[in-house]
Amino acid sequence: MNTQTILQKVHNGERITYEEGLHLYEEAEMLDLAEAANARRQQLVPGDLVTYLIDRNINYTNVCVTDCSFCNFYALPGDDAKSYVNSKAVLGQKIEEALSLGATRILMQGGHHPDLPYEYYTDLVRWIHTTYPAIEINAFSPSEIQHMGFVSGKSWEEILGELKALGLAGLPGGGGEILDDEVRQRVSPKKIMSEDWIGVMKVAHSLGLTTTSTMVIGFRETLAQRMNHLKRLRDAQDEAQAKYGRLGFNAFISWTLQIENTPLGRSRFRDEYGSTPAEYLRHTAISRIFLDNVPHHQASWPTMGQKIAQTALHFGCDDYGSTMIEENVVSAAGAPTATKCAMNVGEMHRQIRLGGFIPAQRDSSYHILNVYDDPNYQPPVVELPPVQQGFVPVLSLDEIKIHTQGNSN
Ligand code: SF4
Repeated sequence: MNTQTILQKVHNGERITYEEGLHLYEEAEMLDLAEAANARRQQLVPGDLVTYLIDRNINYTNVCVTDCSFCNFYALPGDDAKSYVNSKAVLGQKIEEALSLGATRILMQGGHHPDLPYEYYTDLVRWIHTTYPAIEINAFSPSEIQHMGFVSGKSWEEILGELKALGLAGLPGGGGEILDDEVRQRVSPKKIMSEDWIGVMKVAHSLGLTTTSTMVIGFRETLAQRMNHLKRLRDAQDEAQAKYGRLGFNAFISWTLQIENTPLGRSRFRDEYGSTPAEYLRHTAISRIFLDNVPHHQASWPTMGQKIAQTALHFGCDDYGSTMIEENVVSAAGAPTATKCAMNVGEMHRQIRLGGFIPAQRDSSYHILNVYDDPNYQPPVVELPPVQQGFVPVLSLDEIKIHTQGNSN
């Protein structure tokens, strides 16, 4: 196999095989990969705009029984000092703050709470959609949908169909980590396995829900296991396009494992987990080259920091993600966002320009809302809400029972 021949295929706009992707991963020079990844980006998203989204991440509960070894976000049921379920009052306040900052979407995820009934989730989506019709709801990663299936006995088709009818617009790609069951059995044996993660996404694609795909590297996985993940995503995307004539995943986002405050960070293999910035950039390029059917690739500033995220824009990324406003999961595990988990729009523009690109605001379907091609333009400075510190148990299970009977606040 010849590295230059494979790279030339990419420059010609051709698909590369799994074996060719693995070969590039093992053999190609870093700058050759960057060049090929940028060529792929230009084939799929021509121009020099880098997009971003104004949205808010909301974690409705941190109660979880899944015990992933890389997670410091969750609290076990009964851990009154740490656990919480956000009430509608708290959620409403967060959404109103987001709207005042110009947000067009909320991205809502939570732990696998064993005592929340299925009606909690349907009520939540119905209430947000009717109270705040202007905000798009992207919520519940595949493992949460699987969990709802366990508590309700319903199929994924029923759950996603009902949630969509109530106002759900899309699913975040969270919980993908590495879609290879040897890795998943090792680090998160109680969490959704690869085929089921893809299976939930395929149902979402059949219903026309927007979805994204994610990947976390640094679980001591092999390069072949990374390629297995990418191949599963590419195949699912091919299937969505062939069956429904539309995209399944509209974006791909990867980052490196953060383990500082987690059980993995205390394991005897702790020095072998995680990845270097160079490895992240190499992976960013390979993903862009191989996933020739996923148009948008996001640079992950919350996990990688600004400088590496800017560099990723030169390794095939065309999007700078979202302003976040709040982030609780990777921050708890030790990502750079532990000290700063939100970016105002002015800072977002500055970072994208420093990277050498033109900032453009988009919506969650990647429609361009505004292009800011005047380098002197200064967006109005908006005060960001304080970062949520600690966890406050705001809703007891008794209250949840009342609340799911319709007596909502
Ligand atoms: S990563 Fe998600 S599923 Fe795993 S323990 Fe944390 S909250 Fe639970």
